[in-house]
Amino acid sequence: MKKISLLTILAMVVSGAALAQEGEVSWKSTELEPGLYMLEGVGGFAGGNLGLLTGDDGIVLIDNGLSNLAAMTVASIEKLTSDPVNFVINTHAHGDHAGANAAFTKTGATVVAHDNLRRALLADKEFDQRGIPELTFNDSVSFHLNGHTAYVFHLPSAHTDGDAAIKFTEVNVIHGGDVFFNKVYPFIDLDGGGSVDGFIAGQQAILAKADDNTRIIPGHGPLANKADLQSAVNMLIDARSRVKALVDAGKSKDEVLTANPLSAYENWSWDFITTEVMTNTIYRSLTTE
Ligand SMILES: [Zn+2]
Repeated sequence: MKKISLLTILAMVVSGAALAQEGEVSWKSTELEPGLYMLEGVGGFAGGNLGLLTGDDGIVLIDNGLSNLAAMTVASIEKLTSDPVNFVINTHAHGDHAGANAAFTKTGATVVAHDNLRRALLADKEFDQRGIPELTFNDSVSFHLNGHTAYVFHLPSAHTDGDAAIKFTEVNVIHGGDVFFNKVYPFIDLDGGGSVDGFIAGQQAILAKADDNTRIIPGHGPLANKADLQSAVNMLIDARSRVKALVDAGKSKDEVLTANPLSAYENWSWDFITTEVMTNTIYRSLTTE
């Protein structure tokens, strides 16, 4: 993937406007359990990781990538199941996760999401309103299909104000949505209702549902396990306390950035969330609470 600017990626992630050209990008599927898949974008940025449950009782898709790649996404899913998708679960409102909702409601899918996510998408001028969630929940909702229980639970004020994670309880697989970026600094969308404290609490809530055998599909990054998520939350807790010590000492934002309190975590930096961006996000979240 070629290097793209922070602002471009930010625009892409939040609005779902895409850079990737159709034809270059595709979804690579991994069957984690019979009929249960993780799909990862390859050849460019297709969006966050997807989950797909197939079987005779119905098809459940978790997230669906960027709007302009919808035809490619539909075709990728048709390779795994000849049946149309019955339910789409949105982990949150960002365009790289919910961008292709309308391509699935068109063929009869019902979109299921947190109450706040529906509110966010109704207000989003870029979003194709034919893909609005028709079924919303406040705390949790469970699907009982194909011999699986998919327990969908809300994580308040974490990556956004409408996040959900999903646990397939019988097979010990979790989709964490963007409350988990594996091996890189997370994007915490403060303007979309997220917060650093809520993000940490959300990660801890997912950890509480995991054991050493749990496979965790992160919103972005490779398939993970409990230790990967533990290391992500440990990093964020320590990063928060390093910034907080400077805030408590009365340092200004510029002084905090100059002090570079996250220098030990440079290996978590990436194009979109550099150490400076992460420091800035933590500073902002701590000083507006
Ligand atoms: Zn996101």
